[in-house]
Amino acid sequence: MAENQLPEAFELQMQALLGPAEFALFIEGLERPTQTSIRLNRKKPVDISFSKRPIPWAKDGYFLEERPSFTGDPSFHAGAYYVQEASSMFISHILESQQIPKGIYLDLAAAPGGKSTLLSSYLGEEGLLVANEVIAARTQILKENVIKWGLGNTLVSNNDPEHFSLLDGFFDLVLVDAPCSGEGMFRKDPQARAEWSPEHVNLCSARQKRIVDKAGELVKGGGYLLYSTCTFNEKENEEILRFLTEEFAFEPVRIHLDPSWGIVETEVSTADGTFYGYRFFPHKVAGEGFFITVLRRPEEAYTQVAPANKEFKHHSLKRVGEKESAALEQEIGADGSGKFYLLQDAYFRMHGEYSRELEKLAQVLSVRYFGVELGKKQGKEWIPSHEWALSTLPKNAFPLHELSEAEALDFLRKKDQVFGELPLGWVLLTYQKLPLGWLKNLGNRVNNYYPKEWRIRN
Ligand code: SAM
Repeated sequence: MAENQLPEAFELQMQALLGPAEFALFIEGLERPTQTSIRLNRKKPVDISFSKRPIPWAKDGYFLEERPSFTGDPSFHAGAYYVQEASSMFISHILESQQIPKGIYLDLAAAPGGKSTLLSSYLGEEGLLVANEVIAARTQILKENVIKWGLGNTLVSNNDPEHFSLLDGFFDLVLVDAPCSGEGMFRKDPQARAEWSPEHVNLCSARQKRIVDKAGELVKGGGYLLYSTCTFNEKENEEILRFLTEEFAFEPVRIHLDPSWGIVETEVSTADGTFYGYRFFPHKVAGEGFFITVLRRPEEAYTQVAPANKEFKHHSLKRVGEKESAALEQEIGADGSGKFYLLQDAYFRMHGEYSRELEKLAQVLSVRYFGVELGKKQGKEWIPSHEWALSTLPKNAFPLHELSEAEALDFLRKKDQVFGELPLGWVLLTYQKLPLGWLKNLGNRVNNYYPKEWRIRN
């Protein structure tokens, strides 16, 4: 089959789902160009030069008139925005319109981190997000995106959903953005068409059941489960929703839609009531194919409370004592809510409200990153880490130096270049006032501390 040809079985499936007249419109929709969109990071405001139009269902989401070179924009590397497909940003409308309480959230299938950065923005200072990815190699890009976003409220883990068994009833919200057959990506990615088959759909559906069977247990009483895919077929959507309602006593959640958005509501009726799903078709919505459903666990469902431990036992992580924590917090100029931990001489900070939960998570999960890594201390001197530079925490002790666009790109290419008159020692380089990273001025030369693996390569 040619790469851009649609599989016949897929066409039959879509005809059955849509009827012949709408199927023709759907095919037309698949031929239309995709729209590029971004979600802005409120904590890192910049003047975006691209011409943009708000996405009506997404706070901070914008359609761009064309696709610019993001690599050539230093503010992209500073974490000022995330390039994200518009339909997925509907999660923003769900959170805002339902006023879903903040707390401990889990993004169970998180890489590369689009939905995690959205959840992180929603939680702000009032929650903790676990961004989990089962495939070890993909946790790298997830971690990079979480660090660039910079809000310091996220823990990145690398675990199979099965490893979460000790965390039943622990989370206020669990998002399962499931691995799927990717029919919604047929427009953006012709390769996805070539990889599709009815057997693959069945395989995905079986895997999704295994994942949600675990995910459902993790939601605490009164908490929410969000299940999404980027595929159209019912086996991976309505069938999973039905499965969830059979396995768990969930309550339905209905989301208000503006008809002009073109999002299609779908219903699944069970003995426990009618449950709702939301489908995004490319011929109706300015976005790619997507499906999402929202469920609520009854208040009386099992809720796990993290114990308050006087001591924190962990094989590599050490809790920093209260006195030292308070001194560090004052030293860096933060708001006093921080708790510190040491991992091999490097200090990590997380806001303190959820420290019990953080410690429980650290004992159960394979943690790859959390909070903000500040760096090491040599006597009174900091050796600051790149993570601190990109975080929204203050860095008052360090001089700033603003770069032009061309200079910023050279810095991001990791050139050991002198950018004008610099004070001696560590200097925080900024572009449009947003930190990009550290340069150390040694007098006779400078060292560029931008991480080698992140550098722009062209
Ligand atoms: N949520 C991500 C975002 O918005 O950027 C996209 C997630 S992608 C649709 C699905 C993810 O599920 C992939 O990162 C994939 O590695 C992961 N995955 C694959 N098999 C899995 C499994 N058995 N359990 C959990 N996650 C799995």
